Amino acid sequence: MLQNKRIAIVGGGPGGLTLARLLQIKGAAVRVYERDLNNEVRVQGGALDLHTESGLAALQKAGLMDAFKANYRPGAEKIRVVDSQLKVYLDEHKKEAVATFGDKHYRPEIDRGPLRDILLASLQPATIVWDSHIVSVEPVRDSWNLVFQNGSTATADIVIGADGANSKIRPFVTDIKPLWTGITMVEGSIKHAERTAPIVHQLLEGGKIFAFGNEQTVIVSSKGDGSFGFSAACKTSECWYKESGIDFKDHQQVLDWFKKEFTTWNSTWWELFANEETVFIPRPQYCMPLDQQWAAKPNITLIGDAAHWMPPFAGEGVNMAMLDALQLSECLTSPIFVNTQAAIANYEKGMFARFAKAGQGTLFNTEWMHSPQALDNMLAMFGRSMLKQMGFIGKMWVSVTLIPFIRKAVGLSPKQYVLTE
Ligand SMILES: Cc1cc2nc3c(=O)[nH]c(=O)nc-3n(C[C@H](O)[C@H](O)[C@H](O)COP(=O)(O)OP(=O)(O)OC[C@H]3O[C@@H](n4cnc5c(N)ncnc54)[C@H](O)[C@@H]3O)c2cc1C
Repeated sequence: MLQNKRIAIVGGGPGGLTLARLLQIKGAAVRVYERDLNNEVRVQGGALDLHTESGLAALQKAGLMDAFKANYRPGAEKIRVVDSQLKVYLDEHKKEAVATFGDKHYRPEIDRGPLRDILLASLQPATIVWDSHIVSVEPVRDSWNLVFQNGSTATADIVIGADGANSKIRPFVTDIKPLWTGITMVEGSIKHAERTAPIVHQLLEGGKIFAFGNEQTVIVSSKGDGSFGFSAACKTSECWYKESGIDFKDHQQVLDWFKKEFTTWNSTWWELFANEETVFIPRPQYCMPLDQQWAAKPNITLIGDAAHWMPPFAGEGVNMAMLDALQLSECLTSPIFVNTQAAIANYEKGMFARFAKAGQGTLFNTEWMHSPQALDNMLAMFGRSMLKQMGFIGKMWVSVTLIPFIRKAVGLSPKQYVLTE
């Protein structure tokens, strides 16, 4: 089906690169058009946990598990759950890090940079065409003309939009728009964290922090190079990031916003905003409609965030993107489909169903994480998952009324971590 077909993958994120690798293994002719000027130009965000049945399954199929095991960060999955005053309620650092690859509960973490490097290194030379910011595609008989911002063009027989949340390819597949969730996240990335944010760095201890308070969240995620990524999220109006007048390049303005908006939070958190080198990105959170569906096109489709953008509060985005890549590569190279449209239709059917489920869980998390009961819900979630792993419960729902029991059972009496006031 793919013989003599030129495949253009638009976007070299985890989804697009995984797809390129999987298709090349099957002998397909693939180009990845990426808007970045090169691999170094953009700071890659915090660590990602890959799931056995999705992200890791795709890497396994791509023959990249050894490379993953050489680059993942054992222990980076360890979480501390704290409140806005930095009281620790749950501390996974007390547990020994055990690598149990194959276990569906094991979710090893890898930094985005090394994940991207592994995927890039696995591709044939000249697969990636950097500096290819696509602005449009034009149908030309049975193929596509790709138009780039720098004035260049390319042609392809099949186009796959893997260009993330604000996909330029999506409008050629569907006119379904994302829905506003009511939450904006301000993302930051801190270099030399030991020096620039020492208290949070110490609390992080190479893992992750989930902090809840006053219907707001701060999530911090370590990186192997001594830096870390974080996000502060709260309820806002849809266009707050524009209407607020904040210059997100000016750390002092972002700090002033945090002090005012996260007014009940301990001043220790201010160190996240104190460094003038920190780059902030406001990210209003949208989610594609959970029931979205469209009729399959003959030679264009979407994977990853381009297909099903959702908030990151369930850690599903990258895993879904890589599983899409796996499923689409299987469909496009399967002899059972009569043509690419049938293969795309089969892939999209599965993708719609996966997203409906994952998106529901994500919206559920987005809601409760920004509710007054966020901390108790988080502890209930961890307690439920822990008791399941210990074989104590099957599908039993652990209600928040069990939280005191869970805390006691796992020795988690809340303790003050550090206070500077
Ligand atoms: C702050 C934050 C934290 C997150 N944390 C997690 C987490 O812990 N776990 C998790 O699973 N997910 C997380 N996510 C979501 C996750 O990052 C995405 O779901 C995932 O990266 C989607 O992969 P993708 O390949 O579809 O798109 P992307 O990773 O967005 O990649 C798209 C690529 O396309 C390129 N591109 C974009 N537009 C164009 C264009 N016009 N022309 C050419 N190239 C283009 C981009 O430069 C990029 O390289 C988080 C997201 C954010 C913002």
